Amino acid sequence: MSDSMSAGPTINRRRALFGTAAVASTAVLAACAGPQQAGAPSSSAAPSGTAGGGAGLVDVHAHFVTDDYIAAARSVGHEKPDGMPAWPAWNIDKQLADMDRRAIRKAVLSISSPGVHFGDDARAAELARTVNDRATAEVRAHPTRLDHFASLPLPDVDAAVVEARRALSAGAIGVIVMSNAGGQYLGDAALEPLWAELASRRAIVLVHPTSPPGWERTALGRPRPMLEFMFDTTRSVVDLGFSGVLARHPELRIVVPHSGATLPILSERIGLFQKGIGVPAAEPWAKTLRKLWFDTAGTPFPTAIPALASQAGTERIVYGSDSCWTPDAAIDAVLKAIDEAAPPTGARNWRELAAANAEQLLRRD
Ligand SMILES: [Zn+2]
Repeated sequence: MSDSMSAGPTINRRRALFGTAAVASTAVLAACAGPQQAGAPSSSAAPSGTAGGGAGLVDVHAHFVTDDYIAAARSVGHEKPDGMPAWPAWNIDKQLADMDRRAIRKAVLSISSPGVHFGDDARAAELARTVNDRATAEVRAHPTRLDHFASLPLPDVDAAVVEARRALSAGAIGVIVMSNAGGQYLGDAALEPLWAELASRRAIVLVHPTSPPGWERTALGRPRPMLEFMFDTTRSVVDLGFSGVLARHPELRIVVPHSGATLPILSERIGLFQKGIGVPAAEPWAKTLRKLWFDTAGTPFPTAIPALASQAGTERIVYGSDSCWTPDAAIDAVLKAIDEAAPPTGARNWRELAAANAEQLLRRD
């Protein structure tokens, strides 16, 4: 981190700005300044996951990989997944040790981008079953520490419905879907049977970014998670709202990673196009926004989460680490920033708030 990047705003300044429209004007574009500029520790910081009498922090955005999964991806050319330098390593012992060290009570495991569909429907369905069975086994071995979002072999919708039924019946608490599957976005009418199935089970759906169609030209040779992931999340979630999926299926609990990607700074613009230009949408964007859940993966402080909260409130913000794809030092720095951030309205600290929100999100009823 450069000297200029470390000269971030102080906690007092953030406290003054928090909850005001001024925050949104800088929004997530400044989030690349990183999380390590949190200023002096807040007296209400909570280093313990159970501080404040809460139930403990839950990580809703915790990835795993297996040797078989990586081999399957490599076999079709994913040597540098989404332009990242290399595949990460994962094992259950390190997962649990890291959770202990960070005072994380529970993690919800999932497979990240590039997902499980590499062009062949039958192989995708088989790979989804394989990774989901592995996650189910880990959850059964550690039921108080782990849950699981199942992978689906989209864009094969019929197979995705079958696998969703199978995995949710086996104990998965929800599913992870890529922001697009071979260019098919989440508002596509072809996905309606899947949304109906997931809604009937009140499933949680983590919408995870992946490379968009045409990334070969738009990424300009850089890792797609840096920019393309944020734009594709935004595109896909707006499509969910405008197409009416969330209006038709209010039971769905959609989680948007990375502090809502670029939604905090674009939501007013999206609303302007709805109202001022007449772009058809199933419901007002502000209403859609209030249905969504958000996680803190990436660079949540000092800018992104306050910007998100100014647009969407704090009631549906939960913690996400983006392990094992995020370096340990970066995860630790983000947690430090979360613990040192000015407290949200109505809670003593962000850990307490995120833990309480996660209890609501993960309720099985
Ligand atoms: Zn992720």
